[in-house]
Amino acid sequence: MDVHHLTNADLHCHSTVSDGGLAPELLAERACAGGVELWALTDHDEVKGIGAAREAARRLGMGFLAGVEISVSFAGQVVHIVGLGVDETNPALVAGLHATRGGRGPRAQDMAAGLARVGIQGAYEGALRFVGNPELISRTHFARWLVESGHCRDVSEVFRKYLTEGKPGFVPHRWAALGDAVRWITEAGGIAVIAHPARYKFTPNEEYALFSEFKQHGGLGVEVVTGSHSDAEAVRYGEMALEFGLLASRGSDFHAPGESRTELGSLPHLPAQLEPVWLRLADRVN
Ligand code: AMP
Ligand code: MN
Ligand code: MN
Ligand code: MN
Repeated sequence: MDVHHLTNADLHCHSTVSDGGLAPELLAERACAGGVELWALTDHDEVKGIGAAREAARRLGMGFLAGVEISVSFAGQVVHIVGLGVDETNPALVAGLHATRGGRGPRAQDMAAGLARVGIQGAYEGALRFVGNPELISRTHFARWLVESGHCRDVSEVFRKYLTEGKPGFVPHRWAALGDAVRWITEAGGIAVIAHPARYKFTPNEEYALFSEFKQHGGLGVEVVTGSHSDAEAVRYGEMALEFGLLASRGSDFHAPGESRTELGSLPHLPAQLEPVWLRLADRVN
């Protein structure tokens, strides 16, 4: 695929294989209908949806990159590292993702126990009803159940009241190490990208450490334009990309109809002076 003339790449979204609301095939159709020319499926800590996504993209004539979004612990926070253009069968990547997923079951039980202490019973079973892949039970599934059962008006209220640090359903968890995540992606032939950098609550020193350690480990890109970034944040992280010599990525982080702020394919363009990450991934498109 000639990637030089692409105007609409959307390289970040989730299917029912992790915490998205649509199966990979339906997500592909929605991306195509939204005008996406190059698409990546980036489920949390899992590549099980890649085969179906690739097949659907081929049928629709849309370029496809195999992707993943790895949960990492860094400086006391969770950082997400997106891998683009990976070989999803690479043994080190597969093993690393398996290990990263491993803690989710016990963590979910602890989250439910925390919610039970404030009078919310049955949250684990409730969340499970929203789960497509039992290994990938996430805060999003708890959030959907807490809304459905009338405890909160919407998902963002759930996170504010129950699922963020210091709140009753929050359970600190140790995810993958930054260097491991970058290595799994890189050894699988992909490019590692810092996801939605404006979402983290780092001090300037911690953020500098994230970007420089990420680079030292072999990370090459940063999401500049993404569903949760304001225009000003896109400008700021465009400048960070230039300062650190990183490639720029663009992705909606679409999760589910009626839940996600940004539709697949409807993002602003990357700032002109940046090098789009997909120019380095032409040979990984399928
Ligand atoms: P987990 O991997 O189980 O910690 O869940 C993290 C997921 O929760 C993210 O990938 C988002 O999809 C979702 N999430 C995190 N914070 C919020 C928020 N404030 N509002 C809505 N969804 C959120
Ligand atoms: Mn998510
Ligand atoms: Mn994320
Ligand atoms: Mn995401």
